[in-house]
Amino acid sequence: MSYPDAFSLKGKVALVTGASYGIGFALASALAEAGATIAFNDVNEEFLAKGIEAYKAAGIDAKGYICDVTDEPGVQKLVADIEKDLGPVDILINNAGIIRRTPMHEMDVKDFRQVIDIDLTAPFIVAKAVIPGMIKKGGGKIINICSMMSELGRETVSAYAAAKGGLKMLTRNIASEYGSLNIQCNGLGPGYIETPQTAPLREPGHPFNAFILAKTPANRWGTTQDLKGPAVFLASPASDFVNGHVLYVDGGILAYI
Ligand code: NDP
Repeated sequence: MSYPDAFSLKGKVALVTGASYGIGFALASALAEAGATIAFNDVNEEFLAKGIEAYKAAGIDAKGYICDVTDEPGVQKLVADIEKDLGPVDILINNAGIIRRTPMHEMDVKDFRQVIDIDLTAPFIVAKAVIPGMIKKGGGKIINICSMMSELGRETVSAYAAAKGGLKMLTRNIASEYGSLNIQCNGLGPGYIETPQTAPLREPGHPFNAFILAKTPANRWGTTQDLKGPAVFLASPASDFVNGHVLYVDGGILAYI
């Protein structure tokens, strides 16, 4: 295959979870720009409606579905509906995620479980739902949105780090379990990215903002734009021999910290 054809997603159907805005929206937009047909979901009706409008405004033909990724029957229905509407899913980006910042000794076990449920169990549920279709089609790509917390620990993010560390290992397991069936599963690990999730940390004067700027060799926060090329790479035939890895897009912070 010649270049840049190896990066083309023409004829592919991609499901990006939790993609009405933020990182998910940027990743879905990138896959669409590379030629994929986009399906996305949101758990919240109001955000879903806003997401549908946002894709329309960006000139992207994306189909939005309401679905809570922790609800297995709901996810099975989502994947069946996408198959009926657009065709079998070739590319899955497990993007939906939450973070709860609480010192571990003050964290309610209910909140810990919720983070594990959304950030770790749900990627398993959605991958499980799309893999049979990928096997039937002869291959597919699964991209799990990991985090630097897949590698590091930090105060107040015990549940998130446990979930994202687990997601890295789920990624490696899917790669080894299904690699022989031409399914590649990799992680994409954003560094600190400007999104609504990180808005409070980016306030001028916030000690974390100064810490990030000091520790990131690129000397800036990442943007959703920074994630687009790596996502297209991992979704495309260009990465067909890359399996079970996490690609960190972090401005060099993991190398330095
Ligand atoms: P946002 O909070 O901005 O977006 C997360 C999305 O996930 C929202 O659309 C949210 O929907 C959706 N979601 C949450 N729970 C569910 C659920 N149960 N079912 C379906 N959708 C759900 O996060 P970001 O864009 O910042 O992050 C996206 C991913 O990137 C996450 O996995 C996050 O952990 C990861 N990440 C982010 C970093 C950053 O710096 N921002 C750094 C490293 C990793 P709604 O709002 O409608 O509830």
